[in-house]
Amino acid sequence: MNIYGIKRIDLEEYFLQNGEKKFKAVQIYEWLYDKKVSSFSEMTNIKKELQDKLAKDFSFEMIKIKKKQEDKLVKKYLFELFDGNYVEAVLMEHDYGYSICVSSQVGCNMGCAFCESGRLKKVRDLEAFEMVEQVLLVEKDLGKRIDSVVIMGIGEPLDNYDNVMNFIRVINDPKGVSIGARHITLSTCGLIPKIKELAEEELQINLAISLHAPNTQLRDKLMPINKAYPLKDLIKTIKEYIEKTNRRVTIEYIMLQDVNDNETQAKELASLLKGMNVYVNLIPYNETNHIEFKRAKKTQVMNFYDILKKMGINVTIRKEFGGKIDAACGQLRSKEV
Ligand code: SF4
Repeated sequence: MNIYGIKRIDLEEYFLQNGEKKFKAVQIYEWLYDKKVSSFSEMTNIKKELQDKLAKDFSFEMIKIKKKQEDKLVKKYLFELFDGNYVEAVLMEHDYGYSICVSSQVGCNMGCAFCESGRLKKVRDLEAFEMVEQVLLVEKDLGKRIDSVVIMGIGEPLDNYDNVMNFIRVINDPKGVSIGARHITLSTCGLIPKIKELAEEELQINLAISLHAPNTQLRDKLMPINKAYPLKDLIKTIKEYIEKTNRRVTIEYIMLQDVNDNETQAKELASLLKGMNVYVNLIPYNETNHIEFKRAKKTQVMNFYDILKKMGINVTIRKEFGGKIDAACGQLRSKEV
């Protein structure tokens, strides 16, 4: 088992079961995430026999950075996993610090029509440690702390629920990577049962919903998940989530030319979201070589924005990062290119 995927509470349980005091888990966490050692033999406050036992039970193996591409304010990392699969993560520099967008699966089964990342069907889920290590390796490469994490890279995080929850607990732990819950965002295409489960976790993380259409007919065409979990039910679930968690939800809306960017659709979206504690993030689409959609014109995006605003919806237009190195939303891949 890899040590970087273990929650502190599970490590405490491990020590108790082995006749040790549970505070040892804090000591191990401090060595891992504060002093950043890479072997148990460096943990000088752990006795030798216990170091040996830990070394038998846990590994320190790290995924590898295979390639790094840089553009203004953005770096894209390609990671090679132990089984030869690849995933990508993107580091962005903002005025308020660094954020990283991590992948949660190799490939994705959700089949969103506009998404390059989902062109490769899911090969497997990432384990928690493979997500933690994306953060640790990028922090090491950067030589600075990462301030926020978005789980919005390759994969549908709620389709890999347990591993993603473990990942969040490790990075959120004040003795772990120590990223505040309000600086962690999970983005989903709308797996209703899992959103309900997430509402029960008592985590203060941000939830982002990829909506991308103001009505169910269009959403059916863009996002096959809508056939299993239709828009009407999704909106109801989002309302319940907000009620339960008291947290504002982000609605992601990729602007596709002549598909979902006209005035009627803006009004429809505003009516759909009226009275909800949400804010809409309009995302300029990033064209790829393979997919037929075009990015909406700037005037259309502005028009759409104005209509939402006039109709009382909180809305922003996402600042663009990484289009030149295919590091933008929906452009990440699970292969070496
Ligand atoms: S947008 Fe997200 S959920 Fe949809 S196919 Fe791409 S990676 Fe999967």
